[in-house]
Amino acid sequence: MTDDPLGLHGDTLHEECGVFGILGHPEAATLTALGLHALQHRGQEAAGIVSFDGRQFHSERHLGLVGDHFTDPGVVKRLPGHMAMGHVRYSTTGETILRNVQPLFAELEVGGIAIGHNGNFTNGLTLRRELIAGGAICQSTSDTEVVLHLIARSRKKGSDERFVDALGQVEGAFAMVAMTRTKLIGARDPNGIRPLVLGDLDGKPIFASETCALDIIGAKFVRDVKNGEVIVAEIQADGRITITSSMPFGQKPERLCLFEYVYFARPDSVVGGRSVYAARKNMGINLAKEHPVEADVVVPVPDGGTPAAIGYAQQSGIPFELGIIRNHYVGRTFIEPTQSIRAFGVKLKHSANRAEIDGKRVVLIDDSIVRGTTSIKIVQMIREAGAREVHIRVASPMIFHPDYYGIDTPDHDSLLANQHADVVAMARYIGADSLQFLSIDGLYQAVGGEARNNAAPQFTDHYFTGDYPTTLTDLTGRGKSDPKTISLMREAS
Ligand code: AMP
Repeated sequence: MTDDPLGLHGDTLHEECGVFGILGHPEAATLTALGLHALQHRGQEAAGIVSFDGRQFHSERHLGLVGDHFTDPGVVKRLPGHMAMGHVRYSTTGETILRNVQPLFAELEVGGIAIGHNGNFTNGLTLRRELIAGGAICQSTSDTEVVLHLIARSRKKGSDERFVDALGQVEGAFAMVAMTRTKLIGARDPNGIRPLVLGDLDGKPIFASETCALDIIGAKFVRDVKNGEVIVAEIQADGRITITSSMPFGQKPERLCLFEYVYFARPDSVVGGRSVYAARKNMGINLAKEHPVEADVVVPVPDGGTPAAIGYAQQSGIPFELGIIRNHYVGRTFIEPTQSIRAFGVKLKHSANRAEIDGKRVVLIDDSIVRGTTSIKIVQMIREAGAREVHIRVASPMIFHPDYYGIDTPDHDSLLANQHADVVAMARYIGADSLQFLSIDGLYQAVGGEARNNAAPQFTDHYFTGDYPTTLTDLTGRGKSDPKTISLMREAS
């Protein structure tokens, strides 16, 4: 229990997430567990699956990795039925508590409904305050729960109409999957900030955050759910599955989050019709064109920097080597409990491959710099391994602005780019001989083939430019310029 019913004092959570759902398959829960396993990079702290067997809903929600729980046949057996949906989440602040783990489920006037959300609302706190003031009883500190309340209060007839009515009242980013007794619904916010795809396994529809979740179960990619689109897959009384699509939120040009390409999505996924791997490699190619450097070896900061480093090496002709080796078996909890262990953090995750570094001029490639903590530790490690020079090239622009849509970028003052006057000062702080970032146009070209259209940007890039694609009611409404609200907005979800 919390004595903070609004979730305003520290145990609210900021989330990065993945969603998956399948309708009409006898092994729905097993396939969902596999899909979530492929989406594990989108959230490592908790996972949940809800299934429906024609009579009742079943729910299993656990802290930890998908494989920690959902490989247990006993757990999957407790999730019978021909439809299932699941969620993985990574909360970056506050306690991780089971009641925040999605899918969230509620029994409403229209029947049971489960929802799983990837993204963050920018009026979540405002709505939550209004709902609680009106008598709503919140079970979680997750702003996803406001959607359940809005569905419950909607005066529309059917569950899908109510779902649309509820989503029409939220602002921000959502790639959301909902499940009722007969329907699996996928929806994306009007800007399409977070991705969601429609897949097909032997005629059974699937929604998933990324195509890599379709690949793992041998499902076909059908298409992206469009920005602002709601797709309802329904199982009819005779077993037939129908699929209907609507655009209830009005049409806008899509503005997918560029950070999906920079860091977040898995490189083997195709997001918005573009290979994430190819985009990252192009970022490295453009980075080498924009910011060449004389060096002996190109070394990626694994895993995020690897595709860009391959591109940088190809373009520059400097040999690519794995100068840093990543240990893939580091659990988050292992690193976190005490300060003394945390200090070893970077060595648990990364270690220098001295044979490839000693005596060399190294170009380190990372996908992004946020606070600069990783860079400081890696540079020190590379120097200790004998590097003669360490140059950092970053495959995305400088981050100046916090994100409110589901990516873990911290508040304004914690961002490295806001703490120093220029790249020279940043390089000095990190301990690098030089530091350069990919330009915004270099990034746009790498992802979409064209420079940024400043009149109508093709993507959302607010962390680089400050150009937020939605209103920010929690910031500009009641909580105007209140720094506490700013951080709560980021933490809530
Ligand atoms: P920092 O150490 O704060 O500068 O963070 C940058 C490092 O974290 C880079 O190596 C990125 O690969 C990684 N990174 C970037 N964005 C995120 C994110 N949203 N969540 C977790 N890690 C990230």
